[in-house]
Amino acid sequence: MQALQDRIRRDGRVLSANVLKVDSFLNHQVDPQLTLEIGQAFADLFRAEGVTKVLTIEASGIHFALTTALALQVPFVYAKKKKAVTLTEDLYTVPVHSFTRQETFQVSVSKSYLSADDRVVIVDDFLATGDALMGLREIVGLAGAHLVGVGAVVEKSFQNGRSRLEEVGVRVHALARIESMSPETGVKFVETQKEATPVC
Ligand code: 5GP
Repeated sequence: MQALQDRIRRDGRVLSANVLKVDSFLNHQVDPQLTLEIGQAFADLFRAEGVTKVLTIEASGIHFALTTALALQVPFVYAKKKKAVTLTEDLYTVPVHSFTRQETFQVSVSKSYLSADDRVVIVDDFLATGDALMGLREIVGLAGAHLVGVGAVVEKSFQNGRSRLEEVGVRVHALARIESMSPETGVKFVETQKEATPVC
């Protein structure tokens, strides 16, 4: 997605070879127009699959799940990292290690909101090691629902998240794929393959 790549180039800050800060427009202060376009892009990728629900994890996936679900006209559900006293129903719970916080959370979704009838798209802000998305995939599996695919706003392709997901048969789409980055040289995106023109 060109607008997203341009924005990452302009406003993203590479903190280290592994960590990109995008909190001026993606995950702290949020650009609503860009967030709408991101939701539209995910919806276009998965619309043909008869999606019934969009799933994400709090907190920084929520606004992307909202705009994706809005574009698909389905509900979205976000997995919670802490068990609130109001969360009294039966839960699907899995452990998820956080790349940025370096701790493991128990992540839960109420059994009322995900069932074997659902066709689910998972979205999140980043795909890095894949722990968050693999955890959400496990929740979809516990519900007996069908996982249509996952959408990451930003993929750090030099980390192993995509291969972990693809190895277990998950369809992965990322709107900006980073090949490499460094504080000195900035971000290098994966070149998208141009369709070869058939020779008649
Ligand atoms: P994973 O579970 O794939 O290792 O990491 C995904 C989660 O870690 C995302 O939900 C995201 O919040 C956070 N994350 C991973 N890498 C980055 C990064 O480079 N920058 C930011 N801001 N968050 C990241």
